[in-house]
Amino acid sequence: MIARNPRIAHLEAGYLFPEIARRRRAFEAAHPAAGPEDRVLSLGIGNTTEPILPLTGAGLTEGARCLATPEGYTGYGDEQGLPVLREKIAEVWYHGAVQADEVFVSDGAKCDIGRLQLLFGQEVPVTVQDPSYPVYVDGSVLAGAAGAWAGAGYQGITYLPCTAENGFFPDLTPLPQGAVLYFCSPNNPTGAACTRPQLQRLVDTALRRQALIVFDAAYAAFIRDPQLPRSIYEITDAASCAIEVNSFSKPAGFTGVRLGWTVVPRALKYRDGKSIHTDWLRIVTTIFNGASNIAQAGGLAALSEGGLGEIRALTDYYLRNASLILQTLKGLGIPCVGGDNSPYVWARFAGRDSWEVFGEILEKCRVVTTPGAGFGPAGQGFIRFSAFGHQKDIEEACRRLGERL
Ligand SMILES: *Cc1c(COP(=O)(O)O)cnc(C)c1O
Repeated sequence: MIARNPRIAHLEAGYLFPEIARRRRAFEAAHPAAGPEDRVLSLGIGNTTEPILPLTGAGLTEGARCLATPEGYTGYGDEQGLPVLREKIAEVWYHGAVQADEVFVSDGAKCDIGRLQLLFGQEVPVTVQDPSYPVYVDGSVLAGAAGAWAGAGYQGITYLPCTAENGFFPDLTPLPQGAVLYFCSPNNPTGAACTRPQLQRLVDTALRRQALIVFDAAYAAFIRDPQLPRSIYEITDAASCAIEVNSFSKPAGFTGVRLGWTVVPRALKYRDGKSIHTDWLRIVTTIFNGASNIAQAGGLAALSEGGLGEIRALTDYYLRNASLILQTLKGLGIPCVGGDNSPYVWARFAGRDSWEVFGEILEKCRVVTTPGAGFGPAGQGFIRFSAFGHQKDIEEACRRLGERL
């Protein structure tokens, strides 16, 4: 038979969510619920739970209906997305700070991050915030840009610790020359949202080091503080050092619909002066065949005036949950970050092992969380609480946490 891809053999992580599910099943088998009020509740997942709202839903339905009519039928579209949707994103999301032809519509941010890794080549050093969303690291390992697991991280990946001591904004000094830096704000898993001066420091450092930022703004729609930037392009000179990925998944409940976008500014150039935009177009048109036309019809509806109101309502719903979790944990004297401009609360259990705390919360409260250590070495001693859930369940989970922890 064929030889196994050694890069897949290198993957150390990826066990996180299956491992959580395994421990939950084992716990439920050993301690079955006495009744419905005793069931195990989850504050563990980053998956949406609330239905898509009516105007956005009508856009999806209409997109599907058109496909079954002779006048409305469309086959393959442009790989980069519907021109009207690209224009709408440039106008509504970026207020003209980026051009429509710099917006590439995709089937989601995670998938695009995987494809972006083809752009960089194996020689480009990879840098991530620690902790971080797993695809930045695992995708880099699969693309051959990182070596084997070496105890507390991969060879060839620079980890920038985000800790309580640095306010969850990393020291950028170790950023290598000519690196690609994955950066997420509001952050998954820490929930920390960067300020304008912090992002300016990020951009300035990237420019000095000739580095490229891949800015993951998947949670931008959760920002409520008007002082906080919602896009890297609000920062001076970001268009010459940053790509931004974004998604309809969390704001519009499109986790299962699949629609996102990536902005690659025309000003972005490689060291030799060649255009990154040109190469990205080449990759997208080669291995991607465009987002679903139904999903794009839904995306257009979500960016209409009414649709934007629905995004606001849906994110408000999860932010209320987040606020309840935050208040509950604070009431217990547990130090926390996030939960205000983000659907995640990152709670510190200093000196403890994340998995041990996970087990304690599961046993005492029958609540599933996510152990911070699963997101990187600096996540040790933290637990991520997710606000994605039905309000009633979040209220019940918080009641148990408050009474039993
Ligand atoms: C959920 C999430 C995404 C969205 O991924 P999609 O593929 O668009 O669903 C991207 N980045 C982060 C950090 C996320 O948590």
